[in-house]
Amino acid sequence: MDADPKVAIELRWGIEMHADNAGQYGQTAMDLMARFEIPPTPHNYLVWYSYAAKENAALLRTIDILIADGRTFTDAWCDDLYFQFFGQADDAAILSALAENMEESLAGTIAQILEASADTSQFGSALSDVKGKLNALTDAKDETKALVAALLTATQRMERRTLKLEQQLNQSSSQIQDLRNDLESVRTEALTDPLTGIGNRKAFDNYLREKAMHAMEEGSDLCLILCDIDHFKKVNDQWGHQIGDKVLELVSQCLTETAGSQAICCRYGGEEFAFIVPAQQLQQACDLADILRLALCEKCVMNRASGASVGTVTMSFGVAQFAFGEPLPSLIERADTALYAAKHNGRNQVMSEADIPKEPGDQIAVAG
Ligand code: GH3
Ligand code: MG
Ligand code: MG
Repeated sequence: MDADPKVAIELRWGIEMHADNAGQYGQTAMDLMARFEIPPTPHNYLVWYSYAAKENAALLRTIDILIADGRTFTDAWCDDLYFQFFGQADDAAILSALAENMEESLAGTIAQILEASADTSQFGSALSDVKGKLNALTDAKDETKALVAALLTATQRMERRTLKLEQQLNQSSSQIQDLRNDLESVRTEALTDPLTGIGNRKAFDNYLREKAMHAMEEGSDLCLILCDIDHFKKVNDQWGHQIGDKVLELVSQCLTETAGSQAICCRYGGEEFAFIVPAQQLQQACDLADILRLALCEKCVMNRASGASVGTVTMSFGVAQFAFGEPLPSLIERADTALYAAKHNGRNQVMSEADIPKEPGDQIAVAG
């Protein structure tokens, strides 16, 4: 399929002329989908409607890059676009933002009530003053005095009610604040691996998406390292699952300390870890992987209770570099293939996608 970047740009200009017309966005989305031979599924429509309406700057930029690169919008690409931008709504984050909005609007209401309460109290003092003066006047009519007294009582009642309302609203506001804190901790918990305390697979997905977006926006490099403990089953078999867990904790600690701020480390699966390495090219990421490998295999794991040595722990590493606009599963797949090759080649080593022969007809162009 031909993909002329000018076509998309012209169409987007067309949208700007009808910016207030939702029907126009829908029509443009359908036109673009027909042009790029994209099946008109609800998911695809959502992606392309959002593109036409320019609702999401990151989506707009990603699709622009894909079009400029002349990519074919295969089903896999379409799924990935949907998944990246719409498929993983972070419910806790949405609720937290909602609670924040509620808190803000409550704060506004409380401020207004405070203002009204000050006015009421001023009015009450003025009435009290009038009442005092009226009482002092000998020729003031009893009806007038009674009227002012009634007004004063009503005003004081209103003052008390306003105060109560303010207290109730303040209480609601602090309940919402508590709710927001709870949501934040639920969210952190949902993204943390309980054994090692580092990010879990979901956190990894979020970070990778975020860093890939950033790399595309800045035109900067991004690499991925996947690594897996060698023969970990033997550790479990020989020393038991509990020691196995402890080894996993120590490995995680050693890896994260060694990587420092150079990479984001997450637990990718059982005895597998992933490093997202921003601003580094393939070779630099391979060098980092080798530093991680050496840091680990130089350590000796001891069983403190028995004093026995569990031996050394080694890991195999696979490294790949992000190609702008590619679906993230294909980046992960390349790193995984390199990791598999490192295992196959004898373990305790680093291999990169550059070491893997490209399949004929492979469309992925790898930078670096
Ligand atoms: P290879 O070098 O090919 O990776 O061999 P391996 O033995 O490490 O790989 P395999 O996939 O055969 O076994 C992985 C083992 O990791 C099996 C599983 O029980 C263990 N494992 C996965 N998650 C945990 C965990 O959280 N705690 C413990 N103790 N073991 C785990
Ligand atoms: Mg393993
Ligand atoms: Mg494994």
